[in-house]
Amino acid sequence: MPMLGLGTWQNDDADQCAETVETALEMGYRHVDTAQAYGNEAAVGDGIAAAGVAREDVFLATKVWNSNLAHDDVLETAERSLDDLGVDAVDLLYVHWPAGEYDPEGTLSAFDELYEQGTIRNVGVSNFEPHHVEEAMEILDAPLFANQVECHPFLPQDELRAHAEEHGYELVAYSPLARGEVFESDVLTDIADDHGVSAAQVSLAWLREKGVTAIPKATGEDHVADNLASTALSLSDEEVARIDDIDRTDRRIDPDFGPDAWD
Ligand code: NAP
Repeated sequence: MPMLGLGTWQNDDADQCAETVETALEMGYRHVDTAQAYGNEAAVGDGIAAAGVAREDVFLATKVWNSNLAHDDVLETAERSLDDLGVDAVDLLYVHWPAGEYDPEGTLSAFDELYEQGTIRNVGVSNFEPHHVEEAMEILDAPLFANQVECHPFLPQDELRAHAEEHGYELVAYSPLARGEVFESDVLTDIADDHGVSAAQVSLAWLREKGVTAIPKATGEDHVADNLASTALSLSDEEVARIDDIDRTDRRIDPDFGPDAWD
């Protein structure tokens, strides 16, 4: 899985979204993240189709929404997602939240069926706490590939990163720019100034140093390009340590249906 992807939540004007995806792929992105709940799978598919990049070179991920997590609904709505995206298979299908109709046995057996059929190339979960992940791993026949969670310098997810390493799955960082808050941090902006780059790039480079894949959402070409440039930014051990030392816990995404442990 390419360690930098394009997030698309709230890029929900269809023409704009398709254009962003096309621009990003032509610029060099090879990983796109969407979800049933974003209402833009068709636009994402249009962007992929319009870009001059072979389908097999793009890592495409989507997510099954909470109300669609009953066994048969997973099968039916995954098929609809594929139709909307205009693809025969997705590279990664996530359970969006351990919430709503999520029922570990019923939901995950449907994910296993899709994996067996080859309709989904990898099984993922999102917003799972370690105990949810361990339960899912016990139930699934397919390997658990990834857990997508909020992660950035103000929510470094030390426990989940250690858990992912111990259990052999990938951690994918959503809201990797803390939804814009990284630009307000003196530590990040000072390091950015020293390198002549943006604080967005510093946050993304820090995540990469931690072995975490990041999927920043960007709409216009400038932000799309700026985030891609983070792949060329190396932070020193001292800079990584300064970011590690930021003493702050700031969760940006915390809906009522999130895990109890977040309360
Ligand atoms: P984010 O990526 O942390 O921040 C996005 C914001 O930063 C947008 O306002 C964007 O503006 C701006 N931005 C992006 N690049 C920039 C740059 N280089 N300079 C200045 N501003 C920049 O937040 P996010 O959208 O919450 O998270 C990213 C993706 O993660 C989502 O799009 C989605 O795919 C996924 N996600 C998943 C979950 C989940 O439950 N699994 C939850 C939240 C998000 P513009 O749009 O104007 O470029």
